[in-house]
Amino acid sequence: MDYFYGPGRNHLFVPGPVNIPEQVIRAMNRNNEDYRSPAVPALTKTLLEDVKKIFKTISGTPFIIPTTGTGAWESALTNTLSPGDRIVSFLIGQFSLLWIDQQQRLNFNVDVIESDWGQGANLEVLASKLAADTAHSIKAICIVHNETATGVTNNLAAVRKLLDHYQHPALFLVDGVSSICALDFRMDEWGVDVALTGSQKALSMPTGMGIVCASPKALEASQTAKSVRVFFDWKDYLKFYKMGTYWPYTPSIQLLYGLRTALDLIFEEGLDNVIARHSRLAKATRLAVEAWGLKNCTQKEEWYSDTVTAVLVPPYIDSSEIVRRGWKRYNLSLGLGLNKVAGKVFRIGHLGNLNELQLLSCLAGVEMVLKDVGYPVKLGSGVGAACAYLQDTTPMIPSRI
Ligand SMILES: *Cc1c(COP(=O)(O)O)cnc(C)c1O
Repeated sequence: MDYFYGPGRNHLFVPGPVNIPEQVIRAMNRNNEDYRSPAVPALTKTLLEDVKKIFKTISGTPFIIPTTGTGAWESALTNTLSPGDRIVSFLIGQFSLLWIDQQQRLNFNVDVIESDWGQGANLEVLASKLAADTAHSIKAICIVHNETATGVTNNLAAVRKLLDHYQHPALFLVDGVSSICALDFRMDEWGVDVALTGSQKALSMPTGMGIVCASPKALEASQTAKSVRVFFDWKDYLKFYKMGTYWPYTPSIQLLYGLRTALDLIFEEGLDNVIARHSRLAKATRLAVEAWGLKNCTQKEEWYSDTVTAVLVPPYIDSSEIVRRGWKRYNLSLGLGLNKVAGKVFRIGHLGNLNELQLLSCLAGVEMVLKDVGYPVKLGSGVGAACAYLQDTTPMIPSRI
């Protein structure tokens, strides 16, 4: 393959992997270290304590695993469930589809609740299944908090409410890969049993780290769960936690220092401020989409995602052409439409370490591309709408006041 050079920066607006802040890049620019020296366990201890804050959990036990979101899924499932277990899973887009595929290949009995792509999890069907399941044959509810393919955020508090209402003991497993550290997420308050994320999404790190957090109930389930697991076995981690050395196998030293800095940046800004920033940037993006006369793939406001916006294009335009054009002409990377919505949507990722003017550069790029591909957009319309909103709402940077 040819090497492509383009001057200036690539404008990376796919919904993961996302931009890595300079501070994190610099923190990772270092030699390897002996992970059995006293320094690495000491660093790891701070990381394990601090990642709990991004899950909003006190009682959870975190595992930092050399893997991706997909491995974190596998860790959550194989540690808590046995082959043949009935689990309820929602199919609402490509990422939930892939997780369901994994659940089936791991030999669980998956009861799929499907919705149109662009809609959220159908909680009415969940309610009827829970009501009917007096024998408690459902062992887990699996849900993707934020479906990255369609820009749909599911209401986790409502799922917990249903479980409580029916006094159902099913485990509550949540994919928070494109939500944790960007959207409001409360592991303890919502009674989530396993929550997971990957480093290249809202944490703004390189790919390669899966972070899984288990509730006491999930840890208890892991003692009897019969799924085969080796690399992902929580038992091995817990053994080394007890010994104070933390690692059953070699961690990436560079990623550990990267995570330290990524967390420091998040805490310096304040997690709630980070979440509010995502909400602001998302709103500005939606205002731009509206000004362009285009529709959000997400069918109802209650499901609007604050980390990714999937934009529907008119039938006479192929959304893949928009993505291709953006990259070739403007060094702008947008997300493709995946699977069922391929060619129909393009996605703007607005998650991670990102600010207002960066987002505006993306919106300006999208406008030019839209015009390039023959969509009658008024240049400046979306950027103008976003600017007006951001000027009203962008707070001062506290450290610079
Ligand atoms: C990106 C993503 C994944 C997959 O993560 P990988 O790191 O590519 O394995 C899973 N779920 C969601 C919601 C995602 O956005």
